[in-house]
Amino acid sequence: MAEVLILVDHVDGTVRKTTAELLTIARRLGEPCAVFVGDGFDAARETLAKYGAHKVYRVTGAEVTDYLVVPQAELLTTLVQGTAPAALLISSSAEGKEIAARVAIRTGSGLVTDAVDVRAGEGGAVATTQSVFAGSFTVESTVTKGTPIVTVKPNSATPQEAPAAATEEVVDYTPSEAAKAARITESRPKQATGRPELTEAAIVVSGGRGTGGDFAPVEAFADALGAAVGASRAAVDAGWYPHTSQVGQTGKQVSPQLYVACGISGAIQHRAGMQTSKTIVVVNKDSEAPIFDLVDFGVVGDLFTVLPQATEAVDATKG
Ligand code: FAD
Repeated sequence: MAEVLILVDHVDGTVRKTTAELLTIARRLGEPCAVFVGDGFDAARETLAKYGAHKVYRVTGAEVTDYLVVPQAELLTTLVQGTAPAALLISSSAEGKEIAARVAIRTGSGLVTDAVDVRAGEGGAVATTQSVFAGSFTVESTVTKGTPIVTVKPNSATPQEAPAAATEEVVDYTPSEAAKAARITESRPKQATGRPELTEAAIVVSGGRGTGGDFAPVEAFADALGAAVGASRAAVDAGWYPHTSQVGQTGKQVSPQLYVACGISGAIQHRAGMQTSKTIVVVNKDSEAPIFDLVDFGVVGDLFTVLPQATEAVDATKG
């Protein structure tokens, strides 16, 4: 069975949920093989095996992680050329998409970004589904040239355990001088909020201009649900919430199981970042707000009245 390479998304060996999703998807296409770059592999080993990695290609050392994405793209190019995998899957972060694009160019391969589904297609092809133009169109594609390189949006698969005894291969790789053109001089972890990462969260509760700058009810409801907090651009531009929490065309793209929009009108640019959410719930006091066009459940009401009641009801179910 052909190998399917996935790039492990991790922080010092703590594997992100997206990696388990990629391994789950990879099993549909062939034999999942993880590419682990950086330190902390001991912490990652168990998780990779748990989600079905048959093999792990490991590269350690500052030579790769001290620089921006080019060494990773160069390394993956070497692996793709050496192993001729059935596909290369990478998580759809800004960094992941840049790496994927560089590998596609270097290997003369077709690239699909932001896939929401990947599966085995006819004649052994890798079939992908994308949701484009703010979710207005669903596009089915297959890569016809080279190795299919696909970036996959977080939450596109439910991670399924499939324990495997992963073999490990340490890859002897030294970045070229060209790959070392941009060095990371400092990086600071962002302050922990105790909430899940916005793009990976199963539930996102977002607030907009309708909050009037008071995100307390939005945060309380998010915490009751174990959700991440997002915001519209109007809210972040007003300085009410950090820019890193902006959902939309010029912010983060989220695709959670549940998206709750509170005091958000539903501008096309906001929809672009959340329309692929599985279930959409809205709280807005204007029943004519355009966001009601795409909701599964809508509450016409003042968020300062509705959210505390909803929070209380959720808390009550916890006993
Ligand atoms: P508004 O449109 O002002 O809506 C506020 C809503 O709150 C209204 O529907 C109102 O009825 C409701 N409301 C008011 N008070 C209450 C209350 N007490 N209880 C309940 N409901 C209440 N926007 C993004 O979000 N993300 C982007 O990435 C983004 N990118 C953009 C890129 C470009 C190039 C441009 C031009 C715009 C972009 N925008 C983006 C901005 C976008 O066009 C909208 O201006 C923005 O999304 C509006 O934010 P909002 O819904 O919070 O505010």
